Amino acid sequence: MTYVWINPVVEKLYDPKALTQVLDTLGMTRFINQENHVQDVKNHYQEAVNQATSCVIDQRCPLAVQHVQSHYPNRSLTYPQIQPILIHAALEARKNCPSTALLYITTPCQSLAELGDSLALDNTIFLTWRAFVQKFKVQLAAKKLTASPIPPGFFELKTGQKIANLCNKNQIDFFFQQHQEETTTLAEMLYCQDGCHNGDGVTDV
Ligand code: SF4
Repeated sequence: MTYVWINPVVEKLYDPKALTQVLDTLGMTRFINQENHVQDVKNHYQEAVNQATSCVIDQRCPLAVQHVQSHYPNRSLTYPQIQPILIHAALEARKNCPSTALLYITTPCQSLAELGDSLALDNTIFLTWRAFVQKFKVQLAAKKLTASPIPPGFFELKTGQKIANLCNKNQIDFFFQQHQEETTTLAEMLYCQDGCHNGDGVTDV
């Protein structure tokens, strides 16, 4: 048996019945998460903020984190050890699928696929939805998404704690060029315009 985890962006692209039918045809069982990873991740960030003495950097977008680390290496920043939601969901899937079963984890971008692969989970393949579609010759009419299922504005903090919502590369650069991290509690960062529905692994078929 082969399993597949469908990321929330892909889920929104298609009619659910049509997607299930395609996966059935491929002989794949879809893994559905039971745990609330969104709330878990939010709680972890609140804990990180409570302990940090400098601006906490959102770790959900690997491309954004790499950009900040390479372009603004000498800033005083806190990089918490909190995996992206997608990785939390993938780990739940791996734990609950039979250990010998192959599991595909679909991602909205190459950077999340590479992060997942770096974990070297047994019998687990992280790949972009674009790569999945090409590999299995999926043909499905997709909707055009105008918003991410996990849009900017993910975090809520206590009164007096300042969040910056940086929703593309230019906003990230402007924020750091202005040294705004010095007066910010938590920087939410998404490299693709307005979120993961514009990731390089999202396809329109
Ligand atoms: S914003 Fe883009 S690069 Fe960042 S995690 Fe989402 S799809 Fe990937």
